[in-house]
Amino acid sequence: MGSYLVERSVFIDWISRLARHEKVYFPLPVSKSSFRFSRVRSRSRLALEDFDDPRQAKPFRASACIPPPVRLLAPDNELLFTFRRDSAGDCHPTPVLDHNRRILAGVRPCDLKAIALMDRFQGDGIADPYYLARRGNTLLIGHDCLQPCDEYCFCEAAGSLSWRQGADIFLTPQPQARLLVEPLTDQGAALLADAGFPACSDVQACRARAAARRPTPFARQFKAPLARVMHAVAESWQSPVWERHAGRCFSCGTCNLVCPTCSCFDVRDDFNVEDPDSGRRTRHRDACMLEDFAEVAGGYNFRKSPAARQRHRVMRKFVYLPQRFGGTGFCVGCGRCGRQCTVAIDIFTIATDLLAGAGEAA
Ligand code: SF4
Ligand code: SF4
Repeated sequence: MGSYLVERSVFIDWISRLARHEKVYFPLPVSKSSFRFSRVRSRSRLALEDFDDPRQAKPFRASACIPPPVRLLAPDNELLFTFRRDSAGDCHPTPVLDHNRRILAGVRPCDLKAIALMDRFQGDGIADPYYLARRGNTLLIGHDCLQPCDEYCFCEAAGSLSWRQGADIFLTPQPQARLLVEPLTDQGAALLADAGFPACSDVQACRARAAARRPTPFARQFKAPLARVMHAVAESWQSPVWERHAGRCFSCGTCNLVCPTCSCFDVRDDFNVEDPDSGRRTRHRDACMLEDFAEVAGGYNFRKSPAARQRHRVMRKFVYLPQRFGGTGFCVGCGRCGRQCTVAIDIFTIATDLLAGAGEAA
């Protein structure tokens, strides 16, 4: 598949033209410091990272995109099906599946990895048809990172920085306000086929230029390989670290809501009061850090303390889901949870403290 070397402004014009006949989503500013993947309209102002001055001109950071782009595939609230009861009392559901084609452009490597993890998770066991219907009709245009998002980022340590899997097209900033545009799938190549972009004669040199531009190390690093961090977390059930970090937790659930790999939900059935033989089932995002998340019939709560809930959240990212799916864990190191937490409870620091205490606390 041939790649292209394109002026950044030319590529942005192409995205804007594409958005006239496709549903294109891009990180657009919603305040001075936050962005949201929003539908590109004719007056939307799109900005991409500059190679020569990525820090100053950096238009959007993954950690500042709230909610993460995966929420366009798994919304916080959605209608699953309507239902009607017939005269024999049997209920007939009509699923509401979203097969609309969409393009998410400007997806950073950590979010590409989060979407790849969700693809595996949502396709496992009884697959989630709602997620898969959206995902099957979604194209991803990834965008490289030349600078860490902020002081909360640890994407390289979490194995996300060089993630490309799942992207149909991948963009890498180049000197002189240009972009390396690489199609990575047939669908990506088809989308670019009529763009008229000039071919790139040396893709390896372009990639090498971007690699040399990144600081080394890139963002925060654990003091041991990720596999050892994951082992330390797994062995830390009794550690005092949980209480130390959760002591100031408000149990607000924000860390769950902003996380690109959190997926818990609750369902609700609503009957139509004017036509009691019909109704709708909806689902709504839930959060394991909320106090009543683990409350069961009879009022018993098997994760009553914030420390127990924090341990569950961290174990799920570093232990439970990796045990089931393999790989480098379900925390992609985007830093959103630490950045958004009012009291700065930070999963990187928790994992670092567990690693430091490994052995004594197990
Ligand atoms: S965002 Fe912070 S305060 Fe809120 S539940 Fe998560 S760790 Fe606790
Ligand atoms: S746990 Fe925090 S750092 Fe890890 S993926 Fe979720 S939001 Fe990002």
